[in-house]
Amino acid sequence: MLLSSPAMADAIVDNVSGMTLDAAGKLVQFRAIILDKSGKVVRLVPVGEAEPSPVPVKRRKGDQTPPKPRYDWRADMKGRVVIPGFVDAHGHVMGLGLGALTLDLSGTTSLAEAQARIRAYAAANPDKSWIIGRGWNQESWKLGRFPTAAELDAAVGDRPAWLVRADGHAGWASGAALRAAKVTAATPQPAGGRIEKAGAAPAGVLVDNAMALVGDVVPQPTAKDLAAAFLKAQDLLLARGITAVGDMSVGLDAWMTYRRMGDIGALRVRLMVYGAGVDETVRIGGLGPSPWLYDGRLRLTGVKLYADGALGSRGAWLVDPYADAPGQRGLGFHTDAQLQNLMSRASMDGYQVAVHAIGDRANDQVLDAIDELAQTYKGDRRWRVEHAQVLTAKDVARFGRNGVVASMQPTHETSDREMAEARLGPARLSTAYAWRSLEGTGATLAFGSDFPVERPDPFAGWAAAFTRQGEDGLPAGGWQPQERVTREEAWKAFTQGGAYAGFAERQFGRLAPGQYADFVVVDRDPMLASPSDLRATEVEETWVGGQKVWERK
Ligand SMILES: [Zn+2]
Repeated sequence: MLLSSPAMADAIVDNVSGMTLDAAGKLVQFRAIILDKSGKVVRLVPVGEAEPSPVPVKRRKGDQTPPKPRYDWRADMKGRVVIPGFVDAHGHVMGLGLGALTLDLSGTTSLAEAQARIRAYAAANPDKSWIIGRGWNQESWKLGRFPTAAELDAAVGDRPAWLVRADGHAGWASGAALRAAKVTAATPQPAGGRIEKAGAAPAGVLVDNAMALVGDVVPQPTAKDLAAAFLKAQDLLLARGITAVGDMSVGLDAWMTYRRMGDIGALRVRLMVYGAGVDETVRIGGLGPSPWLYDGRLRLTGVKLYADGALGSRGAWLVDPYADAPGQRGLGFHTDAQLQNLMSRASMDGYQVAVHAIGDRANDQVLDAIDELAQTYKGDRRWRVEHAQVLTAKDVARFGRNGVVASMQPTHETSDREMAEARLGPARLSTAYAWRSLEGTGATLAFGSDFPVERPDPFAGWAAAFTRQGEDGLPAGGWQPQERVTREEAWKAFTQGGAYAGFAERQFGRLAPGQYADFVVVDRDPMLASPSDLRATEVEETWVGGQKVWERK
């Protein structure tokens, strides 16, 4: 539901301390926004222009009635700071919502505390057939062993429960969950995994490849679960000023959820959707991208593909071996021909292609494929490379060619830097998370958070991007500081860059005539705030298409 709906009239959002970047990335300040009935900006009223009169000044001779007000609706923002809504170029909306609605055991320091939290969650969710959660760690509980099914049954009774360990490499099942999965004393130990035992019987915890035994019987979320998850995610996004998202690896169920939300008018955030692979995208959209639906709220834009895994688990595909695992180079997911075929099938149908590539070898493969395919699929294709974390110097230079979009996440750099140093060794760090160098090639930088991997918080990402420092202010001087971008460049990448990356720069990404009035009211000036103050910015209101869709309680 909307908190107010002025957009059915000509309106003015008045008395703001407004700031946006223009298309060239230069700061523009304004004191009011004039909107039309479709929720788009008609004009920004410059600082210094006289207070716009609520009624036309001139009264025509012979008028019997007072003049009609110039604006049907006026919001007085009382001098507060107004900036464009943020675009998170790469996130996972349903992943964020589903995660937020399941049980979180992180931070528990004893088995008893975890059991109390599980018991409270089970009592608060009587209609959930399974208790699903994650985040436990028996080391933090000082237990000296894994917990048992019986200890979980003590909290959930006879309900099936499946709780994944903090690192994702083990799961804790209740007795009912083990029965549902038919895991018994007779179940053989799977390759690459382990069923913890108490005598001959399964004890409750399943490690690595054994996790699928229970994981595969956990019920898929219902349509109602998905709707609740979407609404939760939308709230979390709007609360941090994110008004549009590049939503990655979307399946048909999520797409149908977005359609149902749009049909009932509950879709507020704007979603640029990238389907999970070619087949799933074609299942959603048929032979081409969708038009913009629901007043620019939803569009099937492209296909998301994977070239490799991630650095932390040594799945990223590297040219030279891992510094901390000699002989291992990670693994590419496809041969060159397979990747080109997938990208070609997507491009043939007019879908935009976004490829996850983290290691330098994977990035090289994707850039080769783009070089090849750009000869056939001409015009404005906006090939996207997602993450682009580790690059050879030669490949940095190739990003500017073929109009490649570098879709990157500043908070990955600040979270990963120690792990990246271990995995890569010193020689490869100067071209890792290379925002400045990529910006210099003429590639478009599109910034995001990869939520829920990182928090959906553009203020944290923005501060990270021009400091190369974490929340703790470390390391002093910034990590590989030559790759910092400026405060303005980072802001642009979190707004216009993300819109451009999804073919939406004419609709949103800045405040300018013809753009949707998507803006955020914040409690401080982001251009003057110190990095730690910028991180602490409070969003007071979020507006999409000239309508207030979120407000701080
Ligand atoms: Zn992702």
